[in-house]
Amino acid sequence: MSRRKGKVCSVENCENESVRSLSIEKAGEALSSAGINYKVSRRNRIHLCKEHYKKIKKSLKKAQKEERLRLTGGRPF
Ligand SMILES: [Zn+2]
Repeated sequence: MSRRKGKVCSVENCENESVRSLSIEKAGEALSSAGINYKVSRRNRIHLCKEHYKKIKKSLKKAQKEERLRLTGGRPF
């Protein structure tokens, strides 16, 4: 029963097929702030299945927002 198609999610104990691959700079923080343990593949890529991508999507957006706030000196647009 070894079905191997595509990449597998990088989250520990998750064997779903990955739908996204993100750089560790992008996803690493979001994953650890969500309390998710992950393995990093070669080339520092993180592969995520649909479920786990959904889970960190929010914090990905938040991180981007915070970055933007930092760039504009903490003031909203
Ligand atoms: Zn997963």
